[in-house]
Amino acid sequence: MSSAEKCPRTEAISALVDDELAEPARTALDVHLKGCAICTPVLAEFRQLRTAFTALPDVTPDVDFALLVDRRIAAAGVTRPKSKPQRWRWWQFAPATLGGALSLSLGVYLGGTLMLGSQITAQPAALQMAAFTAIPPGALCPALQACNSMGR
Ligand SMILES: [Zn+2]
Repeated sequence: MSSAEKCPRTEAISALVDDELAEPARTALDVHLKGCAICTPVLAEFRQLRTAFTALPDVTPDVDFALLVDRRIAAAGVTRPKSKPQRWRWWQFAPATLGGALSLSLGVYLGGTLMLGSQITAQPAALQMAAFTAIPPGALCPALQACNSMGR
């Protein structure tokens, strides 16, 4: 990775300082940091912060704050809200029932229009193709069956 490539996020540099970066990414970031004028000051600042935080003494509180907070909550008389079991009412099913009925009705209606549409579109096509039958338009029919468009 060269300095011309995209700089890593500051979280990655922080992870590198904290020694929390996995090996392939760590090597790539090291290579980038050696040649990047933008990331080098950030790395130096993170290392300085780490050194400053390491110098701070460890503070261990001798008081359990969670226990104190629990006592104050109990003293205030605040009780935890109990969840009531959900009981379904008949009107809560109404939207689903209405939607189901409407969907079913719409399906039946659309299916009906498809069937009706196929009959309507089939008939003009048969009429258009009637010009290409063996008997020309206007000719006399030798028999009634010969002029029937279905051939029956
Ligand atoms: Zn960079």
